[in-house]
Amino acid sequence: MGTVLENAISLVQKTADLLTLGKRYPGMQIIERMTIPDKVIMFRATVQLDTGSLKVFNCYRIQHSDVLGPYKGGIRFHPEVDLDEVKALALWMTLKTALVDIPYGGAKGGITVDPKTLTPTELERLVRKYTFRLVNDIGPNIDIPAPDMGTSAREMAWIFDEYRKHRDSAYGVVTGKPIALGGSLGRKEATGRGVVCTMLEAAKELGLENYTVGIQGFGNVGSHAALDCHARGIKVTGVSDITGSVQNPDGLDIPAMIKHRDQTGGIEGFPGGKPLADFTSAPCDVLLPCAKENMITADNAAGIKAKLIVEGANGPTTPEADQILESKNVLVVPDILANAGGVIVSYFEWVQNREGFYWEEEDVNNRLFTRLRKAYACVRDTATRKKVSLRQGAYCLALEKIVRAMVDRGVQ
Ligand code: GLU
Repeated sequence: MGTVLENAISLVQKTADLLTLGKRYPGMQIIERMTIPDKVIMFRATVQLDTGSLKVFNCYRIQHSDVLGPYKGGIRFHPEVDLDEVKALALWMTLKTALVDIPYGGAKGGITVDPKTLTPTELERLVRKYTFRLVNDIGPNIDIPAPDMGTSAREMAWIFDEYRKHRDSAYGVVTGKPIALGGSLGRKEATGRGVVCTMLEAAKELGLENYTVGIQGFGNVGSHAALDCHARGIKVTGVSDITGSVQNPDGLDIPAMIKHRDQTGGIEGFPGGKPLADFTSAPCDVLLPCAKENMITADNAAGIKAKLIVEGANGPTTPEADQILESKNVLVVPDILANAGGVIVSYFEWVQNREGFYWEEEDVNNRLFTRLRKAYACVRDTATRKKVSLRQGAYCLALEKIVRAMVDRGVQ
């Protein structure tokens, strides 16, 4: 099993071969420009803990490509964050924004930290230090951070506040902000809603009816996807997170589960279902991996019962697992399409900040669904024409668009 970065790069290479980009655009260095980030920013941030002692953190911001617009992408706080992971996530952002036609490039940030081990005041100091160090590198027309795993509207508010101490007040410097600070209605829910929107499109294609859903990961993406399924009357029969797995063949009470998670810190011990030993092979028709990279691997792919997988997380399926799933005829809606709802509504937030005019949540959702359905149809069409998977089709579309822009921009 390669690293996530190796996997991401090899798929870009394969796509470039499939599209014969080397032959069509000789001398354009497309592979190099797509696989090596424009700028790698790495630094250490020293933060005072509440006890008075100091702690040093490894921090990253990778600006992958700005061919299609300002750099864009979230900031991840997780103990396993490292340079290669952030590079892979930044590359995926470039492909994602191109695929869903928003005027951005791709970036990603991260800090190697388990945010649960810090107090809110310690976290605030860390976020402010991180922002201060990046103040020349971010901006509404340069690079626009957003939430990712381990961060939320609270951290975005601190970034906005710290940035405006040093630069002109600009709401559009960061997205995923609290509503009171120029955030968009529907942003918090957008990734989960987008996952469900693409799931509905794929289920329609497969002719699935009355299907059951299993969700891996119950953070912002997984829990909002679960809530959306619940609201639509689609049964969520299994959920797992780092604390455990719970199943109920009659459907889990998702609002009650969210309450349980908020009170106890996880879904373990949720009284509305039974604990489950092996989550990926539990019976369900649709599986939504909404946790981390490399969760569906050669070791567990063969046991998966679902006919449809919709990737709420970035990079949850390894290339080996992808092959196994393809041979089992499981349809996989790839991450850069399935979880693009978050960055699409980030774009809407940025537009609203620039206009100073704020939209109703219904408008946000309708515009989100229209864009995602269109992107799904384009990916499906490309995949069918080229006789490839949806993932390969999505990469073809995204890469063609980026390369077109590279060529149009000229070489001077
Ligand atoms: N972190 C999210 C992603 O991976 C959202 C990024 C954004 O809104 O800029 O797509």
